[in-house]
Amino acid sequence: MARRDDAAVGAEPFQVAVAGGGVAAMEAVLALREHPEPPRPLAITMFAPDREFRLQALSVAEPFGGDAQTVDLGGFCAEHGVEYREDSVAEVWGGPQRVLTARGDEVFYDALLLATGARRHSVLPGSHAFRGGGDVGWFGTLLERLERGAIADVAFAVPRQVKWTLPIFELAMLTATWLRDRDREGFNLSVVTHEREPLEVLGPRVSEQVAELLGDRGVDIVAATGVVRFDRGRLVCEGGHDFRFDEVVALPGLDVPEIPGVPQGRNGFIGCDAEMRVDGLDRVWAAGDSTWFPVKQGGLAAQQAEIAAAGILRAAGSGVEVPPFRPVVRGALITGGRPRFMRVPLGGDAGVALTSSPLWWPPVKVAGPRLGPYLAQRWAIDEEEDPGLGRTEDLEPARDEREHEAALRLSLDFAEIDAREGDYEEALRWLGVAERLNVTLPAEYVERREEWRAAATA
Ligand SMILES: Cc1cc2nc3c(=O)[nH]c(=O)nc-3n(C[C@H](O)[C@H](O)[C@H](O)COP(=O)(O)OP(=O)(O)OC[C@H]3O[C@@H](n4cnc5c(N)ncnc54)[C@H](O)[C@@H]3O)c2cc1C
Repeated sequence: MARRDDAAVGAEPFQVAVAGGGVAAMEAVLALREHPEPPRPLAITMFAPDREFRLQALSVAEPFGGDAQTVDLGGFCAEHGVEYREDSVAEVWGGPQRVLTARGDEVFYDALLLATGARRHSVLPGSHAFRGGGDVGWFGTLLERLERGAIADVAFAVPRQVKWTLPIFELAMLTATWLRDRDREGFNLSVVTHEREPLEVLGPRVSEQVAELLGDRGVDIVAATGVVRFDRGRLVCEGGHDFRFDEVVALPGLDVPEIPGVPQGRNGFIGCDAEMRVDGLDRVWAAGDSTWFPVKQGGLAAQQAEIAAAGILRAAGSGVEVPPFRPVVRGALITGGRPRFMRVPLGGDAGVALTSSPLWWPPVKVAGPRLGPYLAQRWAIDEEEDPGLGRTEDLEPARDEREHEAALRLSLDFAEIDAREGDYEEALRWLGVAERLNVTLPAEYVERREEWRAAATA
């Protein structure tokens, strides 16, 4: 919670407008509120059109029985002394330092953070684009068709413009594991990607491991292949060759809708400097998927938000240092079995870590420095748990990964024991612990969780 300096009492508030209610916006609010109040106390307003934040990174697990993880932004803002407006920023007027909202209000700002994310849309004609939580329904139908044998050959495609490719590997591996668990055979799942190696952006060590995981699950890789369209059972690729599939699931392309008054580059992305100051606009910062940075990942969005928040605090008179942007990907790959944790500083091979036990704590899928602990606390079964959690901490790769496995096993064993004794609430609490340790609930417990939930409320 912010501490207010005596000098701040009576000073005119410094008006901060945060456009967006996603990963970058929430991380920025947490960072702004973590520091001692600057000489001019912050009056923060968040503008976001959807009151519900949904962690898109976990949407890949939802068709397989994972829960949607959501936060009510009104509640989040109230907890952090922020005014929430269910509205969006329609225009930015840099000279008079005002935003025009979609509802028609003109709002003055001393500092504006643009954290409006990107729009995800299909760029592979004829395919189904998996854009997040809104696509869980049709993906479930696809699984059901695979299960009853109505279709057998499915491609998971990465169009050339997509640089953050992790979700496609997760969907392919989860699908393969799901079919195997149901003793289904005779299907062909392939990842078709423009990358030379799977998850190429994270370097050869990660690629090698992902290739091995795909191989173990019987998923083929067609690499270095640009996809063009899916048409009557043919996935047409650059160079004119094609492959036969029954269905194609693709990652979406990204763009940023026009915000008049904001200089936007190709596909609408917002140019900014290393301190996240928007090119050509004073007192305006940007963070996350809406910026020019090519890798669109929540952990990176949060790192950018932290930098922008420091800049805003300085503008309000605080002496806080603006950290440099040294992008480090903290990625948790859901595999259908044990997840893989990856910590990869971008732009070099040094410092890469890759293990099946957590490399940061708490092990939340989107490793925002403050958002991770906040979400872990929110979604813990017991909200009082770990009240002291502050910032995500990097962990050394475990010397013995069996310790982590033992902790996971233990929580599942406790869950079983409690369920056998009829204490379903306690059993569910232990499943929550297991889910936290494993990023997602182990597949064999998804149905059991539903049964135990029903029993707990009966
Ligand atoms: C399927 C999938 C899997 C993913 N997996 C991972 C993963 O494993 N790890 C990871 O770190 N990242 C992952 N990501 C990426 C991650 O979700 C994004 O990088 C992250 O959400 C970007 O944060 P953001 O704040 O920039 O945008 P968002 O989180 O998208 O938030 C944008 C916000 O801005 C609001 N908004 C839009 N326009 C306006 C406007 N004009 N005015 C005001 N508000 C506006 C929106 O309503 C929303 O609240 C995944 C994404 C998807 C879709």
